[in-house]
Amino acid sequence: MPAIPSLITQLPKVELHCHLAGTLRPATLAALAGKYGQPLPRPVEELYVYRDFYDFIDLLRLVARVLRRPEDFEWVAYEAIEDAFRSSNVRHIEMSFNPQYFIPAGAAYAAQVEGLVAGIEAAERDFPVSALLLASFDREWSVASANETMDLIVGHRHERIVGIGLDGPERAGPPARFEDIYRRATRAGLKKTAHVCEDNQTLAEAPPSNFDACLDILHCDRLDHGYNLLACESAVHRARDSGIYFAVCGITSVAANRSRRLAAIERMTSAGLQVTLNTDDPAMFHTDLAHTYRHVLEGLNWGWDEAKRFSLAGVDACWLDAAAKAELRQDFLCQIAALEAPSPNHETV
Ligand SMILES: [Zn+2]
Repeated sequence: MPAIPSLITQLPKVELHCHLAGTLRPATLAALAGKYGQPLPRPVEELYVYRDFYDFIDLLRLVARVLRRPEDFEWVAYEAIEDAFRSSNVRHIEMSFNPQYFIPAGAAYAAQVEGLVAGIEAAERDFPVSALLLASFDREWSVASANETMDLIVGHRHERIVGIGLDGPERAGPPARFEDIYRRATRAGLKKTAHVCEDNQTLAEAPPSNFDACLDILHCDRLDHGYNLLACESAVHRARDSGIYFAVCGITSVAANRSRRLAAIERMTSAGLQVTLNTDDPAMFHTDLAHTYRHVLEGLNWGWDEAKRFSLAGVDACWLDAAAKAELRQDFLCQIAALEAPSPNHETV
């Protein structure tokens, strides 16, 4: 069965690799900037048109300066979930936020969580979606800073925060530096993921050995990206045998790398790795999860069967508890069956 674009949009999906800062609608970012007297670098309609990578980083810094009060976090969390549901039929989302980014502008950790949870709860009332949070650390920040942030996470334990992550450029150093942080997460009952082997960095910067460290030292339960491990045959075998899920992203901010990214997803999948499809920074990368699915499926000439596999892999890889996960899987199977049922409306929806 071909991957009919309208069916791909309606296919139920799980989003597991999505950064809060990358979800802000341009108008919302402009409004928040106005609220706090922060100048925009350019008109709102061109806000997410970047001159270069550093321009993109500057925009993320602007986001960090304008999310300060609980209601700011509530606003953007709500819109992130609304956009994921309305654009792509996302039914469960695990969204990352970096507490370290917002503290310097005056957002206490507890205020961040209060706002995010309020936004999630409001979105769950309005849409058939569930949402969890991951607290992520930027590896370019010091281990001492990560430890201080971990104190806050453990000291203000909230059931919506189910895991931690590690992001930022891997050239900042090997993942082993964060061993103590990850050990503390295990003790606190938190799941663990990390960005690893990301293909916008060289093999020297993001080597396959980082993958081994994520399994052996950080004891990750899931991983983000993973493409560069394809350069090492033993790492590929280990990734397959471990059964660990990779939350890969179909679209990268570096346009020149987009076809290479698709080829990596094809190779990871055909090598038997467990792969889920995700957006990374949907608003800032001008995508949503349905568009990402279409981009990957069309780019690799894949069809409906692969689309369904990605959809259900997202359920299997998520960090809902067992009962909620089973319920979500059943709901997905019902929705998929309804989409596959012969209907005169299929061609027009
Ligand atoms: Zn990411």
